[in-house]
Amino acid sequence: MLIRLAVPTPLRRSFDYRYKGTAPAVGSRVVVPFGRQKLTAVVLSHPDSSQVPSSKLKYIDKVIDSEPLLPSVLFKLIRFAADYYQHPIGEVFANCLPTLLNKGEPAKLEPEWQWSLTPSGEDAIPKIRSNAVKQKQLFQLCLEHNGVLTEQVLGLHDFIPSYLKTFEEKGWLVRSEQKPSQVVYEPEAGYDTENVTLTSEQEDAVDSIRPHFGSFKGFLLDGVTGSGKTEVYLQLIREALSRQQQVLMLVPEIGLTPQTVKRLERRFNVPIAMLHSGLTDKQRLNIWLKARAGQISIVIGTRSALFTPLAKPGLIIVDEEHDLSYKQQEGFRYSARDLAIVRAQYEQTPIVLGSATPSMESLHNVEQGKLSLLRLTKRAGEAKPPHIKVLDVRQRHLNQGLSQPLIDNMRKHLAQNQQCMIFLNRRGFAPTLICHECGWIADCQRCDRHMTYHQRFKRLHCHHCDKQVFMPKRCPECQSPQLNPVGLGTERLEEALKEIFPDKSVARIDRDSTRRKDSMQNFVEAIKNNEIDILIGTQMLAKGHHFPKLSLVGVVDTDGCLFSADFRATERTAQLLTQVAGRAGRSKGIKGEVVIQSHHPDHPLLVNLFTQDYQTLSRNILAERQEAQLPPYTAMAIFRAEANTLEMPMTFLNDVKQQLKHTGLSVYGPYPAPMPKRAGKMRAQLMVQHAQRKRLQQALSPITPTLEQLPSSRKVRWSLDIDPQEV
Ligand code: ADP
Ligand code: ZN
Ligand code: ZN
Repeated sequence: MLIRLAVPTPLRRSFDYRYKGTAPAVGSRVVVPFGRQKLTAVVLSHPDSSQVPSSKLKYIDKVIDSEPLLPSVLFKLIRFAADYYQHPIGEVFANCLPTLLNKGEPAKLEPEWQWSLTPSGEDAIPKIRSNAVKQKQLFQLCLEHNGVLTEQVLGLHDFIPSYLKTFEEKGWLVRSEQKPSQVVYEPEAGYDTENVTLTSEQEDAVDSIRPHFGSFKGFLLDGVTGSGKTEVYLQLIREALSRQQQVLMLVPEIGLTPQTVKRLERRFNVPIAMLHSGLTDKQRLNIWLKARAGQISIVIGTRSALFTPLAKPGLIIVDEEHDLSYKQQEGFRYSARDLAIVRAQYEQTPIVLGSATPSMESLHNVEQGKLSLLRLTKRAGEAKPPHIKVLDVRQRHLNQGLSQPLIDNMRKHLAQNQQCMIFLNRRGFAPTLICHECGWIADCQRCDRHMTYHQRFKRLHCHHCDKQVFMPKRCPECQSPQLNPVGLGTERLEEALKEIFPDKSVARIDRDSTRRKDSMQNFVEAIKNNEIDILIGTQMLAKGHHFPKLSLVGVVDTDGCLFSADFRATERTAQLLTQVAGRAGRSKGIKGEVVIQSHHPDHPLLVNLFTQDYQTLSRNILAERQEAQLPPYTAMAIFRAEANTLEMPMTFLNDVKQQLKHTGLSVYGPYPAPMPKRAGKMRAQLMVQHAQRKRLQQALSPITPTLEQLPSSRKVRWSLDIDPQEV
């Protein structure tokens, strides 16, 4: 008997095996011999015949799951993803499953225990000695909980497990497995009581979505910063919970999860699970299994949370849908936002994509009628939109990037006990280190980039390949000790601001200062508790955060964002600046102000963004994309290849180009990547396009699996990036 398997290897194909006995179910795991290894594979189908002669087919070693591991919808979604992104199916499954399941661990929830009072326990209560304080307390706790102590109850009290053991041995308590109950949602006292009156726009949005529960429909919630999108989500979540259904909510990788979870916990008395990078493999597996069993009502997490199985899905939310972190940029290069829409279709649930700065893809989907547009045009509550000013800094004296008008403005806001944020998207002290004698520049040996100088650790750090070296004492070329940091990074800005405002507390929030696990959360708390006056923020702080006392946002180095080769640069800069500006003045009575410093105040992007709005600008961007036949008006894919020399990837990609000759696709390249050398590898790429997504798909799918047979493919590492987000 035959089965076809997804085996975790980089080969773009499935593998056939034989088995004896009962057929392992589709979507369950088996262990197979593969070369000299034993691998965990997922059953795809039971074919009638195989291209491999049966004498050559191996037998599987064993069956792990007696039932399908994956709910059928999730199984279908993963297969779709492997096809759509043309990635090896075994790797796709491995990417989507919790690590422990890939390692072959049983898909079984750890039992959770409870201890019940026995009749002899009841008899013992009056006889207990009065000085046996702990025993008395334990009995007392029992009585308070109707004679049943669950692990959750015990977890709230610091009773030592040995007492439980004694009670068990005496026959006073008996241990049994908790029967996990299906969650039943009932609006309860203490919850659901944040009495918000929805704005009419919020109400319209909720009312438009509500009739579509129980079926698929996609919505784009386009709401200006501070317009109360989260409140709309909460109302919809309540609707799903009242239908006794589960909610999946995706958030970007910017430390927003704990904030949102708190808001959910205050509102809903249901089990909520947060999937984030700090979890152990065991915790991750437990959430996966509980969600699959319907024992968690709200699953919230970043990109990979999309692949959490749900027993009774009711609603999918993708917050900040434009965020780049939804696209995985290596290995299995998928877009969680795009796949979320497919999942909602399969699950027959509504899906809401929310953003103040929607992606061109989503706006295009609105144009095509694939998403319904819901708009929140005003800030919620009594907050007013911030006043935005582009400050021409040509010929002005800049103190570490800060102009005098900006500094004066900061003084004004700080004097009113409000907070200021200075935005600079470049961490480290200075982006370059130059020898004053001979002009030598500290470059990364492995990349085509300069190394960033980090003063705190006296180190040079390449932000592209992560290479770090100690700062040289002398120039390696001319031995001069005069090595000067040139340019502005967040560390340097921090130093400058502390000097200008010696009596104010300054916090720098970037990847370097938030490496430790809770540090981001601590910063957020400190800002909300007014322990910080001046924040220096990179893009980590640009999105989603709600800091009530923040009233002035300054952007010191806008010009760096305005000029870039990537056709998406305008979209990204518009999103970033709109989001950064949106942090200012989000509370009643606090007037928000935004100062954008630029040497190019007449740049069309700046002019359009701040004399009109993101909506107008996005309409212009879409028109340009259509004119130039760029995504989202065409479908694009990029073959990427790298090796020790540029010649090998170019040869391979030229071979690929040959294969694509009569497919009707437009092919551009191969050419060296925008950053040809990275982490010691030389990189090249080949771009393909077609006006129709389906045609691109149909043309590539028979060819891609054959490419690994090209002799030139063995000398390179290559990948295919469908719907690339970076060119
Ligand atoms: P967004 O996600 O759109 O940026 P939030 O949902 O964080 O905005 O809401 C911004 C602020 O407005 C929050 O403090 C929130 O509590 C408040 N808010 C939202 N809706 C309302 C409402 N209908 N009435 C009063 N305040 C509201
Ligand atoms: Zn020198
Ligand atoms: Zn490097």
